[in-house]
Amino acid sequence: MTSAVQTRTSSLRTADRLELVGLRRSFGAYTALDGIDLAIEPGEFIALLGPSGCGKSTALNCIAGLLGLTGGEIRLGARRIDELEPEKRGFGMVFQSYALFPHMSVRKNVGFGLAMQGIKGADADRRIMEALALVRLENQADKLPGQLSGGQQQRVAIARAVVIRPPVVLMDEPLSNLDAKLRLEMRAEIRGIHDQIGSTTIYVTHDQDEALSMADRIVVMSNGRIQQIGTPEDLYMRPVNQITADFMGFRTRMSGRITAVSGESAEIEVAGGRMSGVMRETLKPGDTAVISVRPEDFTTAADGAGIPATVSSTEYRGRAFFGLAKAADGSDLYFRADTPLPRGAATRLEPVEGRALIFREAR
Ligand code: ATP
Repeated sequence: MTSAVQTRTSSLRTADRLELVGLRRSFGAYTALDGIDLAIEPGEFIALLGPSGCGKSTALNCIAGLLGLTGGEIRLGARRIDELEPEKRGFGMVFQSYALFPHMSVRKNVGFGLAMQGIKGADADRRIMEALALVRLENQADKLPGQLSGGQQQRVAIARAVVIRPPVVLMDEPLSNLDAKLRLEMRAEIRGIHDQIGSTTIYVTHDQDEALSMADRIVVMSNGRIQQIGTPEDLYMRPVNQITADFMGFRTRMSGRITAVSGESAEIEVAGGRMSGVMRETLKPGDTAVISVRPEDFTTAADGAGIPATVSSTEYRGRAFFGLAKAADGSDLYFRADTPLPRGAATRLEPVEGRALIFREAR
């Protein structure tokens, strides 16, 4: 790597591991972060994934120093940093709203953090142009933010975050304001920038596709706690509980009672039928449990197999039809079929072998 953006001048270094130890944050009686433990290796791209209100932004703001902790510690290498002011941590931040100064040119926006660090003149100019080159905006340096598209404005915000050569870049839903096509392009671009500058990146999102496609490791959060930490493949193939499975696209969820257990497999009685699945938590016959299946793994069954359902709708999605049906207990079943099924048709659905997962019911 040749970019001078890599040269480190700040006292906090990317070569250090970032550790969150028992991180807690309350707002009055409400606990937004309830003991977060996470060690992030230097240069890693971590996605914090979870539903609205689960504490992702609170965690990010605590790491940035914009919010104080009510318990726990944050360490960078051997140094405890949770009592340092945000500017002493020197982390780069990118927000959903871009947060650019509207009256300042792109060049001035990007140079702002450098000016705060007392870096001026030719040195500042060179670093500003390097950062703009990194986000492919060298030719827009003299425009005002209002003269740029949303995607370009977010790239300015990224240039502004990385120009200070931060040990850690924090991004809070940076693509939420962009249209779907641009979001896809920007995912690859942000990952590419991360790889070039070598900083550690922590990226907050509620979009599992974004997390799966960009991150080295994903941290799934809910109710202020970590549910699972793993590589995208780990989380996609082996969610440890129903909360993570919900986030990984297991849309159909049916409650029932375990009737038989054999090794990792179990049979569960649900809505007028039986289904088999792989247990992801230890359960025994008689326990109530939830079976979860992705739409692409839940399909029409032979007569007598699977569970009975009534079709609500199907739609064509290229290679197959995807539909929604109701089970006898009112559960929504998201399924795949090779042919369209008319509304109101009676059908039977079963999971592809080994693809349905059985969990304890989420509390
Ligand atoms: P979103 O994706 O909607 O931004 P999030 O996972 O980032 O959600 P946070 O913004 O971290 O969630 O909020 C976590 C919880 O803490 C929420 O219930 C929120 O209402 C609460 N909270 C956050 N900031 C404050 C505050 N300043 N005062 C009181 N409660 C707060």
